[in-house]
Amino acid sequence: MEGVKFPAYSSFHAYSKSHFSQIRQLKTLSREMRFAMRVVATALPFRVNQYVIDQLIDWDNVPDDPIFQMTFPQPGMLSREHFEEVATLLKSNADNKTIMNTVHRIHMELNPHPAEQMTLNVPMLNGVPLQGIQHKYRETVLFFPTQGQTCHSYCTFCFRWPQFAKEKELRICIKEGLNLHEYLKGHKEVSDLLVTGGDPMVMKSSSLSRYLLPLRSPDFDHIQTIRIGTKALTYWPQRFVSDNDADELLFTFEKLVKSGKHIAIMAHYNHWREMETPIAREAIRQVRNTGAVIRAQGPLLAHINDDKDVWATMWRKQVRLGMTPYYMFVERDTGAYRHFKVPLARAWEIYQGGIQQVSGLARTVRGPSMSASPGKVEIQGVAEVKGETVFVLRFLQGRNPDWVERPFFAKFDPDATWLNHLKPAFGEERFFYEEEFEAMRTRREKKNKLDY
Ligand SMILES: *Cc1c(COP(=O)(O)O)cnc(C)c1O
Ligand code: SF4
Repeated sequence: MEGVKFPAYSSFHAYSKSHFSQIRQLKTLSREMRFAMRVVATALPFRVNQYVIDQLIDWDNVPDDPIFQMTFPQPGMLSREHFEEVATLLKSNADNKTIMNTVHRIHMELNPHPAEQMTLNVPMLNGVPLQGIQHKYRETVLFFPTQGQTCHSYCTFCFRWPQFAKEKELRICIKEGLNLHEYLKGHKEVSDLLVTGGDPMVMKSSSLSRYLLPLRSPDFDHIQTIRIGTKALTYWPQRFVSDNDADELLFTFEKLVKSGKHIAIMAHYNHWREMETPIAREAIRQVRNTGAVIRAQGPLLAHINDDKDVWATMWRKQVRLGMTPYYMFVERDTGAYRHFKVPLARAWEIYQGGIQQVSGLARTVRGPSMSASPGKVEIQGVAEVKGETVFVLRFLQGRNPDWVERPFFAKFDPDATWLNHLKPAFGEERFFYEEEFEAMRTRREKKNKLDY
């Protein structure tokens, strides 16, 4: 690709709900459909950029196009009652305050904080809760840099929707990097730092390097791996190719690799169509040239990728482009979940149906996995044991590392879509980890009360 230029979209341009009328392609859609999109975008976050609109969405296939489903508001994302409520307000030109109050109440009914991220995972430094850091599994610390809490486009199914929905003032926290470094220094059991968001790739390269380059010092020898969770390879591959500071970004990756760190770009992909454009492929090549590896992960979603062949094609293409398929997630029980959820039984069939079609190099992907409060729980399959149909489950990650890789069993339920719908098999009262998990939770609640 030497010499290939990418002149279009050299500068980033995004639309939000107030700019619907400026999106040329929407003009061909029916009036009803455009109104429905406005209704949903009033209640849930919306942001899409010109590259996604022009290069990724197949407008001849709207509304079924998976990339359209992934980025534009869909009527099914709200319940009928919520939809009607907002529609009525918009039709009657209700004032902003009335709309915001209704929207706020709707948000509260959409399970805005699943898996207790807010309360259970925030660590302490010198007795003070550390904003921007989560530490749930022994080996891995999550870091949410303030400047990386938005994305180049928003996914309609995103479980982080509450943070995008809030018109929050950007909390500039200069101490954040220092906190991160101090915390990591004191936790030698941590081998992985996972920088996440939003999308940390919306940050300037200089900010990212300020956080990451100090990790080359001997104080951080225990940090073997730096992972960066991103969907920029899909939504804004220009970030790695033609943005003003793309070179600086790639150089930062290279420096970290040279210093002996493993750099893993945790690329969020939902469909093989995301990696078809020349610039998306160039971005993958550029990242790989630095010595970083790309691991691919993403949720299974109705209307987008609930099809074994879509996954098989995606995994094959990822391997071919030099990426490692890593996780297939189950969509979390929050936000627009109603539109995207897939029953666990069906999720496993899709995973199995996809895996059966690919070679061993693509079978590195694990799943379908639920990131639930006690840990990441994988559905290993459906089996008959002593006349009872059961789900076979295991922890891929647990709040207690000792839970990992212990098979356990739940009654088969064709409609269950999340861990809390499952009941233990064989007439047992509780799953093996539940008592201990309850105790952890109680301990943490007491501690929170003391601290605040
Ligand atoms: C998924 C996840 C990790 C990383 O787990 P791996 O299995 O090592 O990829 C770390 N912390 C949290 C909170 C997670 O959800
Ligand atoms: S890129 Fe990730 S964080 Fe951003 S909207 Fe999509 S799923 Fe959410």
